[in-house]
Amino acid sequence: MSARIVVVGGGTAGTLAANRLRRRFPSERASITVIDANDRHLYKPGLLFVPFGLARPSRLVRSRGTQLASGVVFLERSVVQVDLDSGHVLCDDGSAVGYDVLVLASGVRLAPEETPGLTGDGWSRSAHSFYDLEGSARLAAALASFEGGRLVVATMDMPIACPVAPLEFCFLADWHLRTRGLRAKVELVYLTPLDGAFTKATCNRELEGLLADKGVEVVTDFTTAEVDRARRRIVSYDGREVAYDLAVVVPLHEGAAYVSASDGLGDALGFVPADPATLQSRARPNVFVIGDAADLPAPKAASVAHFEGAVLEANIVAFLEERPPPARFDGHASCFIESGFHKALLIDYNYDLEPVPGHFPARVGLPLLRQSHLNHLGKRAFEQLYWHVLLPGRELPGLRSDMPESGKRRDLIAA
Ligand SMILES: Cc1cc2nc3c(=O)[nH]c(=O)nc-3n(C[C@H](O)[C@H](O)[C@H](O)COP(=O)(O)OP(=O)(O)OC[C@H]3O[C@@H](n4cnc5c(N)ncnc54)[C@H](O)[C@@H]3O)c2cc1C
Repeated sequence: MSARIVVVGGGTAGTLAANRLRRRFPSERASITVIDANDRHLYKPGLLFVPFGLARPSRLVRSRGTQLASGVVFLERSVVQVDLDSGHVLCDDGSAVGYDVLVLASGVRLAPEETPGLTGDGWSRSAHSFYDLEGSARLAAALASFEGGRLVVATMDMPIACPVAPLEFCFLADWHLRTRGLRAKVELVYLTPLDGAFTKATCNRELEGLLADKGVEVVTDFTTAEVDRARRRIVSYDGREVAYDLAVVVPLHEGAAYVSASDGLGDALGFVPADPATLQSRARPNVFVIGDAADLPAPKAASVAHFEGAVLEANIVAFLEERPPPARFDGHASCFIESGFHKALLIDYNYDLEPVPGHFPARVGLPLLRQSHLNHLGKRAFEQLYWHVLLPGRELPGLRSDMPESGKRRDLIAA
């Protein structure tokens, strides 16, 4: 019998999952269908570079259909609900797509409307976001005409995709302003809801040192309640106000609306609770989740979706063969942190181990938790890897989905 595998979302995670499964199953064994609301696949990591003129928006978008292996059916529809009892995905055109195995890969939705001041006429005149394509292009124009004052970068609240991206924005802004001879005229401020620059202690110390070196003021425990555009103030829930001339905000993130609209599928924010090791949803054993849509203690990053891919594939194969899930995801995440001046840091960690110094992926390799030009080259090379290795669902040579241990200097974690 042929199994019907349906993937909701044709972004990073859905595309790599579908391509892996297509290779794994001959077409008589399984049909694989990807449903996405549109045919524009955006390379999101490139958004960081657009405001600084280091990436062209049009180069970041490709057709989704062309990223999918032949034999994968692509349906351009918006999913409005999942009926877990009957095993159907309901779409906005009234169609219902039946499944035996469902893979949820619908990522995150930006929810600026949840923060007063981030929507409505003219909100992007003084406050901007680089988290979508149009926003990053508008920010490029705003930054080009910025001549000095208070540049405030603010993460509204967690979780967000790529939690290091706002920090990278600060580093690149510092570099950009120095290059234009404007740095002395700009106060650069970073507002974060966390109690430090990042969630992991060792990495936090390194990043806070770098922010201090570059003269970026960090305001912690700052959860934004409102952006008061008339007075150009960002206001926190505990009543603190930070003045800005140019604000760069990361809006609140939620899961896709159909998740909350489907009985028993997700939580109130639209994320899908799942077993962090098997990626099987808590809702049903035949529903799996991959990428940003999942409520897991791993960062929302393309690298995470990549490492999850092998686990998802093995566990879907086992499910269809009526075996218990054999593969375990360890939370492996690998993130380059662009720090300006053609340098970047690299962090590599998992559920159990926070970022540590050393080298990646083995004793000889890219330096961990330290700025280097090699890491910057790695960050820029990631784009080609993304289109040609990650999305086709291939493995990186010499790198498995589990976090590599050799090269990690656990002994150097500061107490
Ligand atoms: C500025 C920025 C910089 C980043 N930098 C990095 C980086 O350097 N390294 C890194 O590893 N990661 C980075 N990331 C994170 C990375 O891009 C995401 O983690 C990754 O794209 C998540 O993949 P996904 O498939 O879960 O979600 P997405 O790629 O967003 O795909 C979700 C898909 O679901 C579709 N969808 C949603 N709802 C529906 C619906 N109702 N019906 C049909 N389709 C639907 C959407 O159209 C979309 O195509 C960055 C992200 C941003 C925003």
